[in-house]
Amino acid sequence: MMESCNKCNRNPSVYFREYSGEILCKRCFLNSIERKVQRTINKFSMIKFGDHVAVATSGGKDSLVLLSILKSTIDASKGITVSAITIDEGISGYRDESLRIVSAFCSDLGVPLTVLSYEELFGTHMDEAMKLRPSEKLTSCSICGTFRRRAIDLAAEQIGSNVIATAHNLDDEVQTFMINLFSGDVNRIGWNQSSSIYKAGDMKKIKPLSETYEREIVFYALQKGIPFQSEQCPYTNESIREEIRQFLNDLEKAHPGIKYNTYKSTIDISAFIRKRGDLSIIRRACEKCGRDSTEQICSVCKIQEKFKPVG
Ligand code: SF4
Ligand SMILES: [Zn+2]
Ligand SMILES: [Zn+2]
Repeated sequence: MMESCNKCNRNPSVYFREYSGEILCKRCFLNSIERKVQRTINKFSMIKFGDHVAVATSGGKDSLVLLSILKSTIDASKGITVSAITIDEGISGYRDESLRIVSAFCSDLGVPLTVLSYEELFGTHMDEAMKLRPSEKLTSCSICGTFRRRAIDLAAEQIGSNVIATAHNLDDEVQTFMINLFSGDVNRIGWNQSSSIYKAGDMKKIKPLSETYEREIVFYALQKGIPFQSEQCPYTNESIREEIRQFLNDLEKAHPGIKYNTYKSTIDISAFIRKRGDLSIIRRACEKCGRDSTEQICSVCKIQEKFKPVG
């Protein structure tokens, strides 16, 4: 016979949470994830009365779960506005499917959606950039990631929001920490794990899923019937991230809870690195576009330069 939930002692269980020993029914599992995200939001004072939160929504499971939780747990009655922004990179096949999913999901939730494309913002799109890039050393994800960060900022500014929420989960955060660790760039660890929340000018950037396991987000999406895109990007080249993901999943299987412990360590280590105090980088206006930059010319303008015709 199916064991009953050890939280409500009533409903049949659907989920065994190995790291805590909990056996949960659907309702208690969904509640536990929503409460966890709320706790993360409160712990870091991510959202306050009067905020307009722009949720970067790609169409993957994480961003749709984040949008759904934010919409259902913080709403207009609390003086908070939730909007969705989606960036169209111009990857045919891949992005077309997710745009359909996001658009239908947002209209079901009653969340306004703004879509901006690389083409309109930067004069090129990923399919073209991959053909025109001067060398394979300029990887797809470095072009795309640089453009996406700027595009999300621009979209959030366009709709007048003051908070950008991205759907990085606990697994993403630990993987990024390890990638930086293996690259030998200690300062990057200090910056990157700034982590669940940081201020960039007038814009606050938050990661409300940063303490939630990826596996539990997938299960939440499945239990809630949230339709998410499963198609892989044809240009993905994050092989190290994939290897680290597999390594961490294997570790977690053998030692439940180890990912969360590692996550806690990453927070402490990065705080320690920041406290060392030599991370100061000079911020200035980019000489080309005028936006905030750490160098004379910002990374977006540098990449755009590479696609300009010579002469
Ligand atoms: S995998 Fe790389 S190229 Fe594809 S959407 Fe993500 S960042 Fe862009
Ligand atoms: Zn229950
Ligand atoms: Zn610039």
